[in-house]
Amino acid sequence: MKTGIVEFFENLPPKLCSNCGKEIEEQHECYGNSCFSCIGIKDLD
Ligand SMILES: [Zn+2]
Repeated sequence: MKTGIVEFFENLPPKLCSNCGKEIEEQHECYGNSCFSCIGIKDLD
């Protein structure tokens, strides 16, 4: 089953902010475990 590895990644849980617990949509490794709000990037609501 060579497609098993693809399913494995698709089933990974969403990355959560270690500070507020919010799901991190953009999973940039350079941002660590904090969401944009916690690292200071304010998105318009
Ligand atoms: Zn956060």
